[in-house]
Order: sequence, then C-alpha cells, then structure tokens
Amino acid sequence: MISVEEALARLLAPLEALPPEQISTADGIGRVLAEDLAARRTQPPFAVSAMDGFAVRAADLPGTLEIAGESAAGRPHERRLEPGTTVAISTGAVVPDGSDAVVPVERVVKQDNKVEFPQGAEAGANVRPPGSDGAAGDVVVPRGEWLTPGRVAAAAAAGLAEVSCSRRPRVAVLATGSELVAPGEPLRPGEIYESNSLMLCAALAAGAEVASEPPAADDEATLRAALERGLAADVLVTSGGVSVGEHDLVRSVEGELGVEEIFWRVSIKPGKPVSFGVRGATLVFGLPGNPVSALVGCELFLNPALRALQGLADPLPRYEPGRLSLGLRRNGERDEFVRARSRVEGDSVVLEPIVGQESHMIVRSSAADALVHVPRGNGDLAAGSIVRWLRL
Ligand code: AMP
Ligand code: MG
Repeated sequence: MISVEEALARLLAPLEALPPEQISTADGIGRVLAEDLAARRTQPPFAVSAMDGFAVRAADLPGTLEIAGESAAGRPHERRLEPGTTVAISTGAVVPDGSDAVVPVERVVKQDNKVEFPQGAEAGANVRPPGSDGAAGDVVVPRGEWLTPGRVAAAAAAGLAEVSCSRRPRVAVLATGSELVAPGEPLRPGEIYESNSLMLCAALAAGAEVASEPPAADDEATLRAALERGLAADVLVTSGGVSVGEHDLVRSVEGELGVEEIFWRVSIKPGKPVSFGVRGATLVFGLPGNPVSALVGCELFLNPALRALQGLADPLPRYEPGRLSLGLRRNGERDEFVRARSRVEGDSVVLEPIVGQESHMIVRSSAADALVHVPRGNGDLAAGSIVRWLRL
C-alpha cells in the first residue's frame, strides 16, 4: 500500500500533454492552451473615447467651441480637430487627431452649433490610449492554462480567431459487476442500479471525450472483450472488481491483456483498492465499485491525470482551506476523505461533515459539496481545526 502523495507522483511524473490541435477560439472554453496566446494586434488599436461627450484640445478650455462634426463608434471623424472647434463623440469612437481630451456631455452647455465648456480639462482626460490594454505580440495567456470565458474574450479582442489547445483525451468508462443494471430497467433479486459510470461520465465530460459501455458481468470472457475495447482509448476507467474477492477479476484480466500495473491500493479511506496501470500510451484506472470510493478515486487520481493529459501546468487537486464544524477522529494508517457541506461564515469556510460516511452511501453523499482531507495520524482533529478540502 502506498500513500496518496506517492501514488500521485507515480501517476503524474511521466505524463505528457496530448498533441495540440488548432481550434476556433469560440470552442476554446474549458480547454488548455498548448502555446502561449500572443496578441495579434494592439488593443485598443486607436485612441478611444471613454465617454459620450465632446473631443477637445485641453488648451482651449474653459471656453466656447464650434462643433466641427461627429465621431461615432465605428464611424470616425475624418478631419483633424482645428483650434477653437470641438467634435461630438461617443463611447468607443476614435478620438480625432489634434484633440487630447474628451469632456462628458453632462459637463457642457450646448447652444445650436456651439458648446460651452465652463470648466477646464486635463490633457488625456477620458481618452483610452492605443495599446492601453496590451500591445501586438504580448502574451495574453501563457500555455498550460485553462481558457475561461474571460480569456476566450481576451483572445478574440487580441484578434485571435483560433487557438492551439491539447487534444481532449478519449476516455472509455466501464462499470463491472454481475449485479449491475442500468436505471430504468426492472431489478431481479440481488441486482442494484448502476451509478458509477453515470457519475464518471458526468465528472469527466468537461475535459474529455467520454464513452461508456453497458456494465460487464464478473466473468473472464465478458470482461476480456469489454476491457480490450476500452484499451483503444487514451484512458480506460473501470469501476468494481479490483478488490480481493473471488469475483474481482479486473486486474488479472488486464494483466493478461498486457496492462502493466503501476500501483494497487493506496492508503486512503474510502477508495483503498484503487489500481493504476498502463498499456502503451493508454492509462488504465481501476476504481473500486463502492460509489463513494469511485467518486474519491475520480477526484484524487483520474481528474489530475486528465488535466495533465490536457497540458494543464498544475494538474494537482486544488485544495482550499476551511474550518471543521466538529471534531473528527483521525485514522492511523489512511488519509480520510470526508464528505461535508461547506458554508461561508464571516471570512472563512466552515465544513460540516454529513451524516453517513460509509463508502456505499452515494445517496447520503449527495448532500455534500466538499471532500475534506483528514490526514492520517494519531489523535483527533478538534472542532475549529483548519483543514484542506476539495470542491465536489
Ligand atoms: P466491488 O468493488 O466490485 O467489490 O464492489 C463493491 C460494492 O460496490 C458492491 O456492493 C457493488 O455492488 C457496488 N458497486 C460496484 N459497481 C457499482 C456501480 N457501477 N454502481 C453502483 N454500485 C456498484
Ligand atoms: Mg464487484
């Protein structure tokens, strides 16, 4: 049995991003940049008015100026601003050559073809200089970072219609267990509804192309055929059949199919029997069948691996700090991952463990939005202790 840190190190150290592909900026949301995103043009490309008002030469103010024309957004005033004149201007319009300030419309008195400016203006007032939001060639977002909605907008503003992102991993999901039936089907004695593959598909869909197969029964021939199909993907994830029972056949059949096991059993609770191996470039995860164990294995190992395949610079689970609402007993051998509800109290997050922490309790665990790390060790964590947690 190895520690969670050791397991993550063995898993992530050799992983490289999948090859890059050019995609439309519009499709970039949730993808990781394979190259630095460099601006194609200066933003803004010209001096822009920040206000609706009048473009002036600051030196002419205070005073009364003649209106020489209009500069509207997308329709610039063609001529230079002559001394003693002003140009009506709107937000987003080009500030005409010769003018160096914009006076908001609220601060002027308009009379026919003239405008009175009772106060002075500073040169540069309400003018956004060209390049104030970045120059052509500047790195807008470095490689290895997510594209968020704001970054997609930044790429578009910088003139980029396409971005280079690592290919999304193809993931095959396979639930194993002779007792499993898809929801909606009638149940015979001893059968239960299959929930792990739905959970895994939902958890992984944002960062991967996920395909799932119907559950496979615990017999060697069925498993061999289903596993062989799944091994064609970049990542094969199974649930169930990796423990020590007579019918836990996943690891042995994978071994026959040429999967080299990198680790089996990690000192965590729940989720101890998790396995990880490789066949060629395919990563092979064996999550335990208990649904909460599968959920924990997905958060701790599978998601980080998928983030690394997508090229994310820091693929490790992103823990946040919080405070326990009640005391918890630590486990001497295993790191525990306790399901909890989070709430903000003052300037900190309080984590309230839910009732029902056994590894089959996926229904009760739906009340939780947090996975609290209780490090292995002796003694208790007192109420109010600072812990780290993952958002579910
Ligand atoms: P196993 O890891 O195969 O020993 O399964 C452990 C427990 O999880 C058993 O009670 C199984 O019935 C249950 N289980 C296994 N796979 C699933 C699944 N896909 N959905 C729901 N429960 C499952
Ligand atoms: Mg089983």
